Amino acid sequence: MLDSIKTLARQYAADIVQTRRHLHAHPELSFHEHNTARYVADQLKAIGITPQEGVADTGLVAIIEGTRNDTSSPRRVVGLRADMDALPIHEANEVSYKSTVEGVMHACGHDAHTASLLGVARILHVLRDQFDGTVKLVFQPGEEKAPGGASLMIREGVLENPAPISMIGQHVAPNIPVGKIGFREGMYMASTDELYLTVRGKGGHAAMPDNLVDPVLIASHIIVALQQVISRNRPPASPSVLSFGRFIADGVTNVIPNEVTIQGTFRCMNEEWRAEGKRRMVKLAEGIADAMGGSCEFTIVHGYPFLQNQPELTRRLRAQAVEYMGADNVVDLDLWMAGEDFAFYSQVVDSCFYRLGTRNEARGITSGVHTPTFDIDESALETGAGLMSWLAVQELATL
Ligand SMILES: [Zn+2]
Ligand SMILES: [Zn+2]
Repeated sequence: MLDSIKTLARQYAADIVQTRRHLHAHPELSFHEHNTARYVADQLKAIGITPQEGVADTGLVAIIEGTRNDTSSPRRVVGLRADMDALPIHEANEVSYKSTVEGVMHACGHDAHTASLLGVARILHVLRDQFDGTVKLVFQPGEEKAPGGASLMIREGVLENPAPISMIGQHVAPNIPVGKIGFREGMYMASTDELYLTVRGKGGHAAMPDNLVDPVLIASHIIVALQQVISRNRPPASPSVLSFGRFIADGVTNVIPNEVTIQGTFRCMNEEWRAEGKRRMVKLAEGIADAMGGSCEFTIVHGYPFLQNQPELTRRLRAQAVEYMGADNVVDLDLWMAGEDFAFYSQVVDSCFYRLGTRNEARGITSGVHTPTFDIDESALETGAGLMSWLAVQELATL
């Protein structure tokens, strides 16, 4: 099986690169992946697979049934996920497959994920008489934007009928050299919540603060106090980040404004602490504003939960990756405080999200995701499709 998969991955590698380049040149923003969905559907039909289209509007689900033994026992189901959306970034790379859409770019590698999963579809469709069980391919929209395409796909039943016993996802990694794969058991990525504060006071001439309620000073106290929620109330073993990137006090040297707006992000890896931390922050900010004679309107946009890689599943997949890639090419990942909507699957079903190395320093492919110069070493795509196929059939076989 391993040799068959490797042979097919090598055979299809050039096509997978072409698919990725087509997707890269025609990016679509989150929840607007209409042409992408049509393209994916056409590609699947050309392979001989009829997908279910229009799941969460622009998502697709496809099923590959293994037919090695004609058994009536309950079938194992493994889900494989790719995201399809691009970002509102203007591409700065000068490449033949450069984005043809002004201000939209596949800067997070979701073109590579989708192309790889189409490669998996082709490989496993050809090999379907050599394994048992069901592979469920999930092409989801809107990873980059709240509420996250994964949550909508789950709501539309992607984890039912048939219900996967595990979900596997991969993401390009511009910090890991091409040819290598990264895994981490347990906590891996953070929950993400957006914080929006409006601090109101009474503005006026800066020379007469005794007649005013200074929202700049109130907001400053709030910013400092909120960091103490992280340093004093957070369980010390639980990673958390609180950052504020926007603080607008739109007065001048001698004019105190009426209000200050603040925006920030709160990230952590513990759902109980996440709820408690937000509760404390709101209470503290409102209390400080009130005590100082002003008010604070605190709005939270609740984002993705934290991403947990189920330990036993991750250990099994890591061992299978060593089998496929060799031990030297499988690395351990650090915690990453970014968010990812694959986390929604991980809250419902045993899940594993691993990283596909795409860095090539010699060729200058080093830019981070979400930058205008992001690109991948496309030789990663052969691994992206081959390894995922291998992990899926091995997971169906070992369970
Ligand atoms: Zn991204
Ligand atoms: Zn991404």
